Amino acid sequence: MLDYFEVDLLLTDEERLFRDKIRRFVDEECMPIIAPHFDRGTFPMELIPRMADLELFGLHVEGYGCRKESHTIYGLICQELGRCDSGLRAMASVQNSLAMYPIFAFGSDEQRQKWLPGMARGKAIGCFGLSEPEYGSNPSGMATRAEKQGNHYVLNGTKMWITNGSIAHVAVVWAKLDNEIRGFLVESGTPGFRTTQIQRKFSYRTSPTSLLALENCAIPEKNLLPGARGLKAILQCLNHARYGVACGALGSALACYHAAEAFARERKVFEKPIASYQLIQQHLARMVVEITKAQLLTYHLGRLLDQDKAKHTQISMAKLNNVREAMKIARMARDILGARGILADHHVIRHLCDLEAVSTLEGTESIHTLILGQDLTGISAFH
Ligand SMILES: Cc1cc2nc3c(=O)[nH]c(=O)nc-3n(C[C@H](O)[C@H](O)[C@H](O)COP(=O)(O)OP(=O)(O)OC[C@H]3O[C@@H](n4cnc5c(N)ncnc54)[C@H](O)[C@@H]3O)c2cc1C
Repeated sequence: MLDYFEVDLLLTDEERLFRDKIRRFVDEECMPIIAPHFDRGTFPMELIPRMADLELFGLHVEGYGCRKESHTIYGLICQELGRCDSGLRAMASVQNSLAMYPIFAFGSDEQRQKWLPGMARGKAIGCFGLSEPEYGSNPSGMATRAEKQGNHYVLNGTKMWITNGSIAHVAVVWAKLDNEIRGFLVESGTPGFRTTQIQRKFSYRTSPTSLLALENCAIPEKNLLPGARGLKAILQCLNHARYGVACGALGSALACYHAAEAFARERKVFEKPIASYQLIQQHLARMVVEITKAQLLTYHLGRLLDQDKAKHTQISMAKLNNVREAMKIARMARDILGARGILADHHVIRHLCDLEAVSTLEGTESIHTLILGQDLTGISAFH
């Protein structure tokens, strides 16, 4: 795998071993089946028990049948899964950072006992219901409401674009209770709770993206996450998830580079391999420069997270940079592959299409730019 600046030397033996185990899983078990799933718009559900066997769920959780790992290892896992498919990476990101993490960090012991061991085994899937049809980049405006009625909370509202929503057993739903944002656990099958898978997506095709409708949905009061109050709790989850997205985008960029480089060596045009032409070499060199910068940025961010020193603005920068550069790399790779570049079998077009969604979810490039701008100037330009 491309590692021009030998970032591997900075990893511990344990980190390399874990990464290599996931790399084999991706190459041997995921890559051969992913393109047909992308064509059909289905998630390879058979990979979920395998991901659980490999201890890929519960990476931010201590105890409860989970094996907590460092952020660096989490990032390496997201990179390897993202090298195959962003939907596959999203399965791990959402389960770990957006479902298990909030239950662990903000849940009661009863909630943790109920959900985390099964989620670690891949028997229960979680989702994160934050975005709404009218509130995406500005979640604080959310219209979903919770009202206390006896020993229940009654939820009303619509959540949109929710990864894994239609296959989830439990949804972490964010709603305003007495004007304060709180987190609630809504179990699938609860009366008044309906999920609908969003169809005709041209991006993130393997990932089930859903609408969650809550209509007078009564949940027991014990399903309120006691420790989650306000946007701060949400941002804590998003910090974990955005780092995973940045690492996954790096994985997509690596996949595109390798596909383009291999093709350029083989493909002969005007009787010479296209790799011998300066313009193709320029493309490849540009890709390697950006991948190397992203590897160093991502590696260092993982270490900062592990030391609890990472700022959310640094995570924003990594998400913004890695996704933007991965998109450019995927486009260059697609160009190098010529007509074959549009075939799913060569994988590059899948990454290119998926990166369109990746650039929007977990905060768009504009939103992360504004986060950085505010940090640099002290002035918010959001409103
Ligand atoms: C495949 C997929 C999976 C997703 N999964 C989840 C999930 O699991 N859970 C969840 O809660 N959400 C999820 N989302 C939703 C995602 O987080 C939102 O789509 C994202 O936050 C953007 O919101 P929006 O689509 O409403 O765009 P909008 O907020 O309407 O933005 C539209 C455009 O306006 C720009 N813009 C917004 N505000 C400003 C401003 N102040 N200045 C300049 N430009 C601005 C944006 O950058 C964007 O270009 C997912 C989305 C996708 C596509």
